[in-house]
Amino acid sequence: MTKLEMVVARRKGLRLSLRKLAEKVGVSRQAVLDYERGIYGPGPEVWEKMKDVLGLEGEAKEYWSKLGIRGRPRKQKCKVAKCTNPVIAQSLCEKHYQKMKSLETN
Ligand SMILES: [Zn+2]
Repeated sequence: MTKLEMVVARRKGLRLSLRKLAEKVGVSRQAVLDYERGIYGPGPEVWEKMKDVLGLEGEAKEYWSKLGIRGRPRKQKCKVAKCTNPVIAQSLCEKHYQKMKSLETN
């Protein structure tokens, strides 16, 4: 089994769909599919998350000869309507996240 085949085997072993894994590591389903086909590998941030989720070790370049820029995490927008700030946690931007936190503690 190649290292790349191990990535696929781990995902299937954990019964994660392409979409689930994509959600967990913050990329599109298509990106995960491209990783598994060996077209290109994840960028460093995504790889860190993938290693956590799949329980893998080592550097992405040991698994893929080519690391893709499309493997970068997707910039998500805040879930608050009309807010276009980038997400920092729990699908919220910095401002709305802090607001939610302050509501929680009150
Ligand atoms: Zn916001």
